[in-house]
Amino acid sequence: MGDLGEERGATVVGAAMEGTVLVTGGAGFVGATLVRELVRRGARVRVLDDLSCGRLERIAPEVRSGAIEFLRGSVLDRGDLASAVRDVSAIVHLAAIVGVERVVRDPERALLENVAGVRAVLGEALRIGAPLVFASSSEVYGPGDGRAMREDDEPLRGAGDSSRWSYAVAKLAGERMIAAAARSGAVRGISLRFFNTTGPEQTPDSGMVLPRFCADAVERGTITVHGDGSQVRSFSHVADVAAAVADLLQRVDATFDGRVFNVGSGRAVSVLELAHLVAARTGASVRTVPHADAFGPDFEDVRHRVPDLAALRDAIGQRRPVPLELVVDEALVAARQRASSPIVLAAP
Ligand code: NAD
Repeated sequence: MGDLGEERGATVVGAAMEGTVLVTGGAGFVGATLVRELVRRGARVRVLDDLSCGRLERIAPEVRSGAIEFLRGSVLDRGDLASAVRDVSAIVHLAAIVGVERVVRDPERALLENVAGVRAVLGEALRIGAPLVFASSSEVYGPGDGRAMREDDEPLRGAGDSSRWSYAVAKLAGERMIAAAARSGAVRGISLRFFNTTGPEQTPDSGMVLPRFCADAVERGTITVHGDGSQVRSFSHVADVAAAVADLLQRVDATFDGRVFNVGSGRAVSVLELAHLVAARTGASVRTVPHADAFGPDFEDVRHRVPDLAALRDAIGQRRPVPLELVVDEALVAARQRASSPIVLAAP
């Protein structure tokens, strides 16, 4: 790692990770895995999460042991955010209204709150001079044209006026704000376009495809595929995503010039193939239903969503990803556990 960090045993800790790293949304699905990875690499971590859809149990052992400081609060609350950024050396902004189902339910709220969140966090990064990693999304590409998606592709290509794109518009606005600030030299920042990220802690409630298929198989014996299943995706294990974010955080000086990186898996799989991977392990049947039945008549699907990962590889090298079959096996174990002991969430 050369001049960017110092050796601590087998772990290299870059300058951005020598102080406290603030992770907004750190009780969320990606956030919880990331904070554990940062702790494993020797960082001090603070989480700001309003628990609107995150769960404190995910990081409870680390909070109890003092490895993570947890603040319950919102990035949209000036006081909460100001307390959270105190003395931090880097910020990872993950907090957002996430998931196509949630966004389609209230697209205006997803747009306004997601833009306001990144604006507020960027404002604090500028004020205290901390580098910023922003979780964007592959949704910014829009439906695409069937090729692997590259960071310099035209955003929202082919997108119509379906409400699903309001999430992408908010992510794009965040990327552009960070790029403008970073290019003027006011802050060091990058945006990461996460492609489908999955893992055993991901629950089916926000409509994420693999946990939903597993819940369908385990609880109902029939997997419901939206559309004809020929749509192509790539799925990364959340541990691979967390490792990539941590690797990038350790290289703040070299790459934090406002650029955007795809973060995901290069293995393309059709949604029907994914359903059959789950079906083969459970004996479940597979049925297809039109998208309109699930998301309403104006829903636009993405036919092919696979990242070009050359820029990420140039920045952090290549790792061997968790194989998809193992990702599916783990998701099924988790679905069976959830089915046998469902977590009852308290009313807000
Ligand atoms: P998640 O919903 O599990 O996590 C989001 C977390 O943010 C939750 O813990 C929630 O309680 C918290 N939160 C929401 N609003 C908040 C607010 N105003 N203040 C403080 N906390 C707030 O989602 P995730 O899958 O972990 O996604 C993390 C980030 O990665 C998000 O920004 C998401 O847009 C992005 N992303 C995820 C995927 C994926 O496949 N999981 C794909 C693309 C992009």
